[in-house]
Amino acid sequence: MDLTLSPAEEAFRDELRTWLEANNPGREPAGDEAAFEFRRAWQRKLNDAGWAGVSWPKEYGGRGATLVEQAIFNEEVVRARTPSVANVLALAMGGPTVIAHGTEEQKRRFLPPILSADEIWCQGFSEPGAGSDLASLKTRAVRHGDEWVVTGQKVWTTFAHHAKWCMLVARTDPEAPKHKGLTYFLMDMEQDAVQVRPLRQITGESEFNELFIEEARIPHENIVGAEGEGWAVAITTLMHERATLAFGLQVSVQIALRELIESARSARGMDGAVATEDPVIRQRLAQLLIESEVLRLNAYRGLSAIMRSGVPGPEGSLGKWHWSEVNQSLTELAMEIAGPRAMLSDSEANWTYRFLRARANSIEGGTTEILKNIVAERVLGLPRMR
Ligand SMILES: Cc1cc2nc3c(=O)[nH]c(=O)nc-3n(C[C@H](O)[C@H](O)[C@H](O)COP(=O)(O)OP(=O)(O)OC[C@H]3O[C@@H](n4cnc5c(N)ncnc54)[C@H](O)[C@@H]3O)c2cc1C
Repeated sequence: MDLTLSPAEEAFRDELRTWLEANNPGREPAGDEAAFEFRRAWQRKLNDAGWAGVSWPKEYGGRGATLVEQAIFNEEVVRARTPSVANVLALAMGGPTVIAHGTEEQKRRFLPPILSADEIWCQGFSEPGAGSDLASLKTRAVRHGDEWVVTGQKVWTTFAHHAKWCMLVARTDPEAPKHKGLTYFLMDMEQDAVQVRPLRQITGESEFNELFIEEARIPHENIVGAEGEGWAVAITTLMHERATLAFGLQVSVQIALRELIESARSARGMDGAVATEDPVIRQRLAQLLIESEVLRLNAYRGLSAIMRSGVPGPEGSLGKWHWSEVNQSLTELAMEIAGPRAMLSDSEANWTYRFLRARANSIEGGTTEILKNIVAERVLGLPRMR
């Protein structure tokens, strides 16, 4: 792949940089509600300027940009340290899934309010007995005329407490083999039959929830793809989750590493020595620098694969697995360098928070073990385990 930007891509990047410099709202406020509304306002501002759905088709409110431009966008927003957007799951996964598998009516109905953050989405895949082995999920949908009645339980549902729509995978044919009897629905969260209970994480936040679904109603027209084809549609969602985030993630690791090197230059160990004079710490920092460069180059490799095939492939699994390892090593080293002071840390860098949040990196979006299986079987072509 040619890593130099074309003049048109450079112009795109410069226009975006200028816009971000003028419009970045800065750090988000504390508190879940306040932070969420801040992110919603930021997403609206992006959308008003045509930056929310960068690579989405123009007829559905996107910018119609190329995948390289989308990658430039993902890098630049991280570099500019803008806040997150409110509808992150719909922008990265739900919208692209509707674009790939939805009907024309679904595209017109669902895509614009995703971009404007008027309707927030969550992802109802995992269940207490089905995470890595998603196809064994038990939430059941039964057809009654023009609607489906859904009963079951989902878990780890990020942003369900803010969501209007849930990407829900449910079993519609219990007699079929487990990958075949599934259907992908868009479920309205605003009904009494759907109860959302927050789960508290090690960071103290409650990003995700349990969902209790007791005879919820979903109109037949809210099936994405066809009845019984839910597995293929769900895979589209998961591939987008892993592939499209790679660009932002690799830049965030590079920024975090720069911050870590800065703090290591002034941090002193118990013996009074400066951390960057310790040969072991120097080696670990150098190793992280090498790995962050590998992450960057692999993100480009994944992008060129998407450009060839039109859809994200299994390479995204490699990037997500590697990123989680690098981010965990980086935050662990930051805690070691800070030493006992890390326990008191409430500094700008907030390493304690980042260290605790990074524990989830090797679970969310597919565990490292599962990603290694995908890379072994689908990238390296090794024999299947099962
Ligand atoms: C921060 C966070 C946010 C999340 N958000 C969402 C969300 O919005 N929506 C959603 O649906 N889910 C969400 N999840 C759930 C996530 O997708 C699951 O936790 C993940 O898929 C693992 O499933 P599990 O927790 O059931 O673990 P299990 O599948 O039970 O796995 C337990 C352990 O066994 C290992 N294992 C399992 N099978 C194999 C195998 N075949 N080979 C080798 N090892 C194996 C796993 O790697 C893991 O170490 C989120 C999780 C986190 C941490």
